[in-house]
Amino acid sequence: MRLAIYGGTFDPIHSGHLAVAREAARVCSLDRVLFIPASIPPHKEGATAAAYEDRYRMVELACRGELRFEASRIEAGQQSSYSIRTIERLRAEHPAGGLFFLIGADAFAEIKTWHRWREVVEAVEFIVVSRPGYEYEIPGNARVQRLDSLRLPVSSSDLRRRLAAGETPPEIPPEVLRYIRANGLYQRSDERNYVNFHQ
Ligand code: ATP
Ligand code: MG
Repeated sequence: MRLAIYGGTFDPIHSGHLAVAREAARVCSLDRVLFIPASIPPHKEGATAAAYEDRYRMVELACRGELRFEASRIEAGQQSSYSIRTIERLRAEHPAGGLFFLIGADAFAEIKTWHRWREVVEAVEFIVVSRPGYEYEIPGNARVQRLDSLRLPVSSSDLRRRLAAGETPPEIPPEVLRYIRANGLYQRSDERNYVNFHQ
């Protein structure tokens, strides 16, 4: 079983996330990609625009059509979402399989700021996907497969702004857009409205 962890805030999930996972699954012959929304993302000071349950639900809706994609609640709850904890739990569940960590160039560039990053680097093989405007260095002992075939300018931050401006961005899957509209999400882009926003 070749399993990839794909963490993020997914605030909201977009076509870039899905394209990245599809390409990684194809190139690296993954059996499963676990999309794992962070409840309290340490690198965003815990602040998100939409609540955990809404972000999880949108990820679940977006993963429905893809056999190898699965939404995971492993980072639900009140604790900070440190990847090393998630990795340790998944490793215990899949002791024999290959464990991959799928990540964009922007996030990988900051790997050395992560809680217990050396242990993260020892525990998984990274699949790092290019992202326009971001370069990264590979720490000495990290196992990294570079995936440089994609250059997708889409980001959740940009989509939040466009949703707040009343646009219907085509980068959001239709079922996710329906959920956003039905629940009145992202109507304002002011970051002071974020869940857990700290002044
Ligand atoms: P935000 O703008 O709120 O940070 P985002 O679009 O970066 O949102 P995240 O949930 O932060 O989305 O990202 C989850 C993971 O997906 C990260 O590893 C990130 O690097 C990767 N990712 C997101 N968008 C892209 C993209 N367009 N190309 C490559 N990787 C991406
Ligand atoms: Mg991001």
